[in-house]
Amino acid sequence: MSELVPIRRPRTGLPRTDETGPNLRGLSWDELVSFIETTIGGPKYRAGQVYGWLHKQRVTSFDEMTNLSKSQRAELAAASTVDALKVDTVLRSTDGTRKLRIRTSDGHQLESVLIPNDGRGLTLCISSMVGCSLTCQFCATQTLGFQRNLAAWEILDQVYRAQTLLAEDAAAAQAPWVERITNVVLMGMGEPLHNFVQVRRAIDLLTHPEGAGIAGRRITVSTAGLVPAIERFGREGLAEEVGLAISLNATTDAVRDEVMPINTKWNIDTLLATVRALPANRRRRITFEYVLLDGVNDTDDDAGRLIALLRGFDAHVNAIPFNPHAGAPYRRPSAQRVSRFVERLRRGGVKVHVRTPRGDDIGAACGQLALDSGSSAVPT
Ligand code: SF4
Repeated sequence: MSELVPIRRPRTGLPRTDETGPNLRGLSWDELVSFIETTIGGPKYRAGQVYGWLHKQRVTSFDEMTNLSKSQRAELAAASTVDALKVDTVLRSTDGTRKLRIRTSDGHQLESVLIPNDGRGLTLCISSMVGCSLTCQFCATQTLGFQRNLAAWEILDQVYRAQTLLAEDAAAAQAPWVERITNVVLMGMGEPLHNFVQVRRAIDLLTHPEGAGIAGRRITVSTAGLVPAIERFGREGLAEEVGLAISLNATTDAVRDEVMPINTKWNIDTLLATVRALPANRRRRITFEYVLLDGVNDTDDDAGRLIALLRGFDAHVNAIPFNPHAGAPYRRPSAQRVSRFVERLRRGGVKVHVRTPRGDDIGAACGQLALDSGSSAVPT
């Protein structure tokens, strides 16, 4: 039996304000209205103009806010920032996946991934932390350790930088339209529910009708099984607003303890009971992620146990054949093994989708986000 493995606790993750003032991109609508009133004043629509510049036009400087006077822009710049993330590198896979290697203003690195949806727009996978506070053994990110939580504006700005990249790519290709991001998934670096306050704030901003206006049903938050935060997710209404994905990856506590040490704190029964207790109308939309590890969790018995565990959920399982990375203690099962597992689930009445590895030639597939070997996740 595994020992209880302590979770690397993130620091508070509350919005940071320093001598440069708040980053306006991370302020809620109400906060921005009040901030504009106390800095440059003027009619209420002024705040709406600034909000639009930040969340629709995705500007990165006050100078671009051309419907404000020069003196208003100078006053705002003296009291606040509109810092954006910087895209250092874009890695392009032969299958159309693009990995954005991004730098924060304090020199940390993180990654987001744009994944084509078979001709129906793109899914953007974004990060909620630099590194990760958990230690899922199949995941490359955990090798980075926990560096820090991302602020809300850093979470949502990954969407804006990806949209900007798509616009630039379309212009470069003289394409008649810009590809659209149809889904946003918080499945990149970090455990989103361990950075609850900032993730919640970012979701509120991304879904605000005066801003990017992304529909909540197009956003999915993935968790490794942080039970108190899942309860909070339900209590605070997020379960009504956005999708939830549970990274399950095992059917016995003995195996899950090894693969996902968080299980030693909240085991499978506790996790599933918590998910069952979420508002009933949302339970239909729970996704279970299941990374298939050769000889570890892919047996016929596992398939049978998974069917039993998910009984009562109208669940959808994403079966993800393991994406290898350096030093990982697992192998990807054979195609036959994957088919057999999936067929057993289907015969047991479980809806299942096999997630084709996307972008594994650029280290962008599920579980592979770990920056370059030799690159650093610490400030430079
Ligand atoms: S799978 Fe997610 S929660 Fe687990 S270590 Fe990787 S990034 Fe963190």
